Amino acid sequence: MVERFEVALNTPAGRLTTAIDVPTGLIPIASIIPLTRRLGEEAAQLEVQRATETGQTISCRIGCAACCRMLVPLSAPEAFTLRDYVGQLPVDRRTLLLNRLSDTKDRLIREGLWSQLNDAAEASTMAPDEELESINRSYYALRIPCPYLENELCSIYEARPAACRELLVTSPAVTHH
Ligand code: SF4
Repeated sequence: MVERFEVALNTPAGRLTTAIDVPTGLIPIASIIPLTRRLGEEAAQLEVQRATETGQTISCRIGCAACCRMLVPLSAPEAFTLRDYVGQLPVDRRTLLLNRLSDTKDRLIREGLWSQLNDAAEASTMAPDEELESINRSYYALRIPCPYLENELCSIYEARPAACRELLVTSPAVTHH
């Protein structure tokens, strides 16, 4: 048995509408992931349309991974899905990624950002924008590449979070090393 819902989301580039069929029984929380990914991609398409209409050029291109040095907001279902994705990879690949994730965590601990990120993630209410903005800025200032970034390409492209599907840039591409 499924029940159909109409979903409407307001994005900076316009309104996104979609219909989803939700099973009425119990389903794993990660079942929401295909929908969040699809919405992320549709939001990006709306953004492309708006940029094109206003005469802007999208400067995103393969090999430019400036966005992959920013904090990526991840919902809990996405975090579980990503963990499972990494968990089913061949052992060599998995070990490499887990080592890189662990190195990134160590770096964040050294920089004093780990506890701030943890507190924000575990808070029962969402932290105020100013607080998140300050963590965001400190993180981006470190230019830490995402642990999944390899040779400036996303190595988990098919499984990347919804937020990574939304980002588009219209300013000139600048490479950070
Ligand atoms: S998951 Fe992929 S697209 Fe997202 S920040 Fe990491 S490398 Fe970039």
